Amino acid sequence: MTDAREHLVHWLRDAYAMEGQAISLLETQASRLETYPEARAKVEAHLQQTHRQRDAVEECLGRLGADPSTLKDLAQKTVANVQGMFHAMSEDEVLKHALGGYSFEQFEAASYRMLAAAARAAGEPGIAETCEVIQREEEEMGDWLWEQMPTLTETYLARSKAGVTAKR
Ligand code: MG
Ligand code: FE
Repeated sequence: MTDAREHLVHWLRDAYAMEGQAISLLETQASRLETYPEARAKVEAHLQQTHRQRDAVEECLGRLGADPSTLKDLAQKTVANVQGMFHAMSEDEVLKHALGGYSFEQFEAASYRMLAAAARAAGEPGIAETCEVIQREEEEMGDWLWEQMPTLTETYLARSKAGVTAKR
């Protein structure tokens, strides 16, 4: 038998590892966006936000008397680095990152929605509220990527046609 509290700890550890992966992905993306200053600023802002999210998750674990699992964190970071390398090999890297980033933000938002429900079931309304704040931040970043997709694609195509370093 596993109670709601144990599940909550387990899933918060997953979220902590997920944010570690997010930090690696966003760092890679920001470094590839030097010719897209607006997108770069947004990605860097979300990177700072992601650091705060990871700290907030750690604090929630602390309130439950638990720590993040560093092993899981390491494994996820490796996945993120491999993904970064994979995308770096494609010409349309900037668009591939936008696609990956969009699905990642959706996954994050859904994870925090699940966590908020789990926290309420475990009698931890404070943790639930923290998760809902983060959920909205992920949705906001996902919405921004969604809105940017046409412009980003058009800019990429125009640069590609003009022979400018379109991959960046
Ligand atoms: Mg996040
Ligand atoms: Fe995020």
